[in-house]
Amino acid sequence: EGIEPKYRRILLKFSGEALMGEANYGIDPKLVQQIAQELQELNRIGIEIGLVIGGGNIFRGAGLAAAGMDRVTADHMGMLATVMNALALQDALERLGVFCRVMSAIRINEVCEDYLRRRAIRHLEKGRLVIFAAGTGNPFFTTDTAASLRAIEIGADLLIKATKVDGVYSADPMVDPNAQFFPRLSYDQVIARNLAVMDATAIIMCRDHSLPLRVFDMHKVGSLTHIIKGEDVGTLVSR
Ligand code: UDP
Repeated sequence: EGIEPKYRRILLKFSGEALMGEANYGIDPKLVQQIAQELQELNRIGIEIGLVIGGGNIFRGAGLAAAGMDRVTADHMGMLATVMNALALQDALERLGVFCRVMSAIRINEVCEDYLRRRAIRHLEKGRLVIFAAGTGNPFFTTDTAASLRAIEIGADLLIKATKVDGVYSADPMVDPNAQFFPRLSYDQVIARNLAVMDATAIIMCRDHSLPLRVFDMHKVGSLTHIIKGEDVGTLVSR
């Protein structure tokens, strides 16, 4: 139907804050619904979609540890927070009729499937959207790193990171009006300039496996479809 996708299999990363909306904690069902609708459209045209969601709208390990909690316990709580977000999104997708599975890096079998790479790929091939929950399953990592790891594992053509601004800037454009926008960057530029794209571990994994990364503004409805068509939306990080 007029859409000639450039990418067949993508991995999309949302931070937990993406589900929060105007609130400062938790999940806004309206936003979850909105994200689910955009994903439904991509699923309908046959794009294979893996999703990684953060947990920062509920708990972040570093924040809890700064308040005195044991870091590993705090990270376990952060990972469980991503499972809750994943369940919310799965629910919204299923209500739209999109087949969807949550696969967790931590075993919680009463709640969702375990992450098994081969099974994840099989789900994608059958047109099911897969939400990868609980990050990498290890403390001291982030969901950015989980996103690059899962993208590489499932052989995604593109890693897409949804943010609140329309790409990568030399400084935070919400704070510094002179911040310079970068339509394209190399992995090494991102690392050398310490640009706030994804954490360094995630960027280095993308670089070492030549996985292109696009950063875009999730508030602009329809952007994902443009990206899938190969249009220049946001910032592309590649070789
Ligand atoms: N986390 C972890 N290992 C992982 C991924 C996440 O321990 O592989 C924990 C960590 O405490 C992190 C929290 O889960 O702060 C939520 O993830 P993240 O901060 O990446 O979420 P986002 O900022 O994207 O919402």
